Amino acid sequence: MITDKNPLHEVDAPCYQAVMLVGPPGVGKGTQGKMLAQIPGIFHVSSGDMFRELDINSKCGQIFQQYAGIGKLVPDHITIKIWQDYMAAKVREQVYAPESDLLILDGIPRNIVQAGLIAPYIKLFKVIYMVCEDREVMFKRIRGRSLKENRIDDSEEIVVRYRWDVYKRETEPLIDYYPQDLIRIIDADTTAADVLHQILSSIVPIQKNHFKSPFM
Ligand code: ADP
Repeated sequence: MITDKNPLHEVDAPCYQAVMLVGPPGVGKGTQGKMLAQIPGIFHVSSGDMFRELDINSKCGQIFQQYAGIGKLVPDHITIKIWQDYMAAKVREQVYAPESDLLILDGIPRNIVQAGLIAPYIKLFKVIYMVCEDREVMFKRIRGRSLKENRIDDSEEIVVRYRWDVYKRETEPLIDYYPQDLIRIIDADTTAADVLHQILSSIVPIQKNHFKSPFM
């Protein structure tokens, strides 16, 4: 029975068991996410990739182009709605099993409003905070990525620098917003293998303690 104390949206809300990757543009979240995605029992979602997969002629695809092209964040409610639909589709397609896969959220939530909107749907185990002090290293990586991946938002220096400011203003405050025992600082100014090693040392215990082995 549904009562006021037991509202439908909470009963029905899916619960995704998740770890978040937070870090500035170009810090290597995508590279790490792709490697983590190869591990059985891990499902990686990059919000940037989610948006780039949208049909550019669809309404949402157009909205994304409009904002990403100038380095701005897509409005929060639209972002979370697209994410919810995306997650539901992945469960339906059976590529993601919420009860046995650890979800790696990469690029979402991107600010405190999104963190509030997404909270009812996730159980958050850790916030992996990727730190690289030298922003010129990141700008250099983004310039390389722009050539390789043909990304509209990576090609203009002014847009890249603007995204950095957006990160500082909107995303970095998430680190103070979440309980400090959830935050794990990772030194991202090192090799990809070393960064992966640090991230794994944080998430392997979560997988072991909270999920059944996919081979059992
Ligand atoms: P980067 O990590 O280099 O900033 P992303 O691929 O994560 O790049 O994001 C590219 C663009 O996609 C962002 O500049 C923004 O326009 C949009 N975007 C991605 N994630 C979000 C989000 N959670 N909220 C709003 N906009 C987002």
